Amino acid sequence: MKACSSHALAPTGRPLCKMRRISPGGAADNDDQAAVIAAGDESRNIGKHHLLCRRCRFPVTNESWAIQINQAHQHTFANPHGIVFDIRCFSLAPGCGSVSRPSLEFSWFSGFSWQISACRRCQMHLGWRFAQAESFHFFGLIADHLISSSKTHESTRQTP
Ligand SMILES: [Zn+2]
Repeated sequence: MKACSSHALAPTGRPLCKMRRISPGGAADNDDQAAVIAAGDESRNIGKHHLLCRRCRFPVTNESWAIQINQAHQHTFANPHGIVFDIRCFSLAPGCGSVSRPSLEFSWFSGFSWQISACRRCQMHLGWRFAQAESFHFFGLIADHLISSSKTHESTRQTP
């Protein structure tokens, strides 16, 4: 399986290639689609609170969609490969696309399945989509891979 090359991206102690089959009824994709449509209108009002893909500056999410999971917005995890991730939790991330099937082999957020999420424009790995059954999901995005839209303005001004 091709996914084996992405072991380091799994938010879990198990290899990514052990992904399990999607359970019947997979409504997750429709869900994402709805979020994209809903956020399409939002993105017309891009303000300084928008968070962009660090690599290509594609709008990924917004500060107003920040949520707390387990009483915290930001979490720090290390995976078995020794890679440390600072992740921030958002209820929506329309700029993210899921690039793996849901896996229940999970260790960071108990009871949630996860999928790898990448930038819809440049495919850079941005984080994971975590889902609890079909009732609730959120995005855990790597803080370092996002850049605030206000910061991009500052850095433009400071460029010699
Ligand atoms: Zn990107």
